[in-house]
Amino acid sequence: MEECTICPHKCKVDRKNTFGRCKAGEKVEIGGVSLHKFEEPCISGKNGSGTVFFSKCNLNCVFCQNYEISNLGKGRKIETEELVEIFLKQQENKAENINLVSPTIYANKIIEAVKLARKEGLKLPIIYNTNGYENVETIKKLEGIVDVYLPDLKYYDNNLGLKYSKVNNYFEIATNAIKEMYRQVGYPKFDQNGMIQKGLIIRHLVLPNNIENTKNILKWIKENIDEKVYISIMTQYFPTYKANEYEEINRKITKEEYDIIEDYVYELGIENGYMQDYLEEDEDKYVPKWEY
Ligand code: SF4
Repeated sequence: MEECTICPHKCKVDRKNTFGRCKAGEKVEIGGVSLHKFEEPCISGKNGSGTVFFSKCNLNCVFCQNYEISNLGKGRKIETEELVEIFLKQQENKAENINLVSPTIYANKIIEAVKLARKEGLKLPIIYNTNGYENVETIKKLEGIVDVYLPDLKYYDNNLGLKYSKVNNYFEIATNAIKEMYRQVGYPKFDQNGMIQKGLIIRHLVLPNNIENTKNILKWIKENIDEKVYISIMTQYFPTYKANEYEEINRKITKEEYDIIEDYVYELGIENGYMQDYLEEDEDKYVPKWEY
């Protein structure tokens, strides 16, 4: 924290006194807590996933659906003890798991909080729900803390990462992190109710007019992680935040684009995972209502 290198930006700033790229201070900031019903079925289950949405982010994607908390930085600062209480409260409320959404920039505090919560009786699996722009060194510190990794793999083409998220080398950085995640937790393991207890699921959000990017991502995962790896293909994209400044992504994906991706999934022989249905209307129901 005194020379922050938690994420690949490696700003080396002292977060007690100043800010790096993510604009996060020393304390954890959260934008909301909920029992979320719209994650993958093995994550939301019957009761909902015990989400904790962290404020601020190290990527700042122009199409971010959570931009109010990630980019505009709305939220409130909490002490590590309160984070522990939140985890335990989620368990009391019968959440299926603890789902840490955009946790990267607070990874050190999260490690502390999970250790304390385990001592106080937290039994739920911990899900690390990340944009994929992670340092391998930070992911290594999460070994034994995180049970399920749920990383995005957004861009095969690094020019897209630069254009929409203002980062260099997204693909190399994210894929190195994902390989380390897979080394730690491997292939998903489910309980008798089909709820994930351990393992890796890779998410990919399909962007309009970028179908080749999606195909390359799917092919890379199939060829480089594991034949049976779980992939979650998200088609809920709708233009929000600054997406209207980029004509090519200023619309939802079309049914034709959806069908091309669906055919490609079969062509590649991807066996495990999820693909959202194609729906005509905006998918803003997937965006939580923020309470700070
Ligand atoms: S977590 Fe924030 S301050 Fe630290 S390296 Fe990443 S962007 Fe910079």
